[in-house]
Amino acid sequence: MAVKQTAGWEALGQFAPKFAELNDDVLFGQVWSRENLLSLRDRSLVTVVALMAQGLVDSSFQYHLTTAKQNGITRQEIAEILTHAAFYAGWPKAWAAFRMAKEVWAEDEGEDAKAQHQRDMVFPIGAPNDGFAQYFVGQSYLHPLSTSQVGVYNVTFEPGCRNNWHIHQATSGGGQILICVAGRGYYQEEGSPARELHPGDVVNIPVGVKHWHGAAPDSWFSHLAVEVPGVDCSNQWLEPVSQADYDKLI
Ligand code: MN
Repeated sequence: MAVKQTAGWEALGQFAPKFAELNDDVLFGQVWSRENLLSLRDRSLVTVVALMAQGLVDSSFQYHLTTAKQNGITRQEIAEILTHAAFYAGWPKAWAAFRMAKEVWAEDEGEDAKAQHQRDMVFPIGAPNDGFAQYFVGQSYLHPLSTSQVGVYNVTFEPGCRNNWHIHQATSGGGQILICVAGRGYYQEEGSPARELHPGDVVNIPVGVKHWHGAAPDSWFSHLAVEVPGVDCSNQWLEPVSQADYDKLI
């Protein structure tokens, strides 16, 4: 999809129409728009570093920082990008760039970690998990991936969030499979040490086993929850995992 840019025409359409046309139609309309070769996010990264290397901290730099943010570069990432570039472009240039970047990303401090987690994962974080909030400590999110044949849900936990102790019940079949997709979390069965979970880990939870799952204290965490088909399936929700028990994990 072509990037629509009219700044050139608005600023220089009368004075330098060819330059305005090249700016709007070729630079933005064609080069920036070749997303099949390099994403807008990557193009923003290259552009910001190239401008910083020249010591440009004018309105065009501010425009490209704002665009970089719109294209998905987070506050933590821009800090890392400018730090890295400082060694090659020059320390004072990084100082100047940071002053402007701080303003552009100023209101972003809280949202950043969640946005970063979403970028680490192909499945949506989804909506706040209000329906089950009473069985969780902290904020969780739920996104249904499959609601027919086999139920598959992406469950996301903010740092420190975990569900209560619970038991998946069924008279035959049933149980739950967790497939970890992003971040770092824990799974614990009653009477056993907690197991640390990373993307790619799979947990088979048999029926009748008391357990909980959730995020590490300092990391977002997402797992797919696969509801294994069975007869008379239900969840038996029990007491919360106490802060003392949760703190022992670390
Ligand atoms: Mn479970």
